[in-house]
Amino acid sequence: MNTLRLSAQDPRTPEIAAGILRRGGLVAVPTETVYGLGADGLNPAAVKRIFLAKGRPGDNPLILHVTGVEQLPQFCHDIPQAAYRLAQAFWPGPLTMVLPANDCVPRETTGGLDTVAIRCPQTPVTREIIRLAGVPVAAPSANLSGKPSTTTAQHVLHDHDGRIDAVVDGGPCAVGVESTIVDLTEDRPRLLRPGGVGPEALLAVLGDLVIDRAVTGLLADGDVVKAPGMKYRHYAPQEPVIIVAGSREKAARYIHAHFQPGDRVLCFAEELPLYAGCAPLAYGLEADPLSLSAGLFAALRDLDDPAVRRVFARCPVGGGVAYAVQNRLNKAAGFHIVDAEAAE
Ligand code: AMP
Ligand code: MG
Repeated sequence: MNTLRLSAQDPRTPEIAAGILRRGGLVAVPTETVYGLGADGLNPAAVKRIFLAKGRPGDNPLILHVTGVEQLPQFCHDIPQAAYRLAQAFWPGPLTMVLPANDCVPRETTGGLDTVAIRCPQTPVTREIIRLAGVPVAAPSANLSGKPSTTTAQHVLHDHDGRIDAVVDGGPCAVGVESTIVDLTEDRPRLLRPGGVGPEALLAVLGDLVIDRAVTGLLADGDVVKAPGMKYRHYAPQEPVIIVAGSREKAARYIHAHFQPGDRVLCFAEELPLYAGCAPLAYGLEADPLSLSAGLFAALRDLDDPAVRRVFARCPVGGGVAYAVQNRLNKAAGFHIVDAEAAE
């Protein structure tokens, strides 16, 4: 199969991409979070092709992408007021809500669950493609399962060239980490995955928020999870990642003391001078957390290389999008965190 390259700037692109989706094909689309591998979310055969292309386990559900809050009642029921307040505050944008699914949503899309995850993306070309397709677009991140997510069209082609119908190139993603997911199907709203919308912003709208255990720690085998995707190893390059926490100076002393040939350092741009000789790679500025989220997956992809032995990573602390960066790095490291302050 020849994978079509479509430009987000070309006025013909939305109709071409929508046509492919209507015919049951796969189109990778840009969003403000990451590139998604899209298919008609109401067509079980099309959705199955997503799982096949990614090598994704069938019980890992997909997010349905819609054009706006007015579509919610088509795909879910028992919608609480909180859902409308969240949509008002954050849609279009990097927020996904989990709600009870209507029967029109195939179980292939929901990974067998009776709930469905729904989001309205910010990127105009993608909303236009969804509108023209006339169907909600199921789209997980467009990486091969288990690999760092795709934040450029080049990443998508690296993983899927010749295996999907088309990719729409909209340039690098502005947020760079997957959407915030909030489950609204229980008594209390529950954060299943942090993303571009930070926990404080959610709390300000909801007045209450439970942080799911899948966000903050490793899940044990056999744990029952609300966020099925979170039980799989995620976001990680092939070699071990070790997060080194603590002040700039103490972290640098720890890393220099333990650095061996083949190791790499993933750090903040402000820290580059500290790691001369340690093959440092900066993924953004510590002072600008959005630059860290935007750069994280491209950096993890660069480090996904058999020549790399280990990665010592510096991780931001704080709320907002920094909380999501911390979550993805923790997952990539399997929560292997060294405290440089205590190590001295
Ligand atoms: P991805 O699109 O690859 O970033 O992953 C989508 C993630 O959304 C899944 O891995 C799940 O963690 C989450 N998700 C999707 N649908 C549901 C649902 N119905 N209930 C809970 N979590 C969901
Ligand atoms: Mg993913």
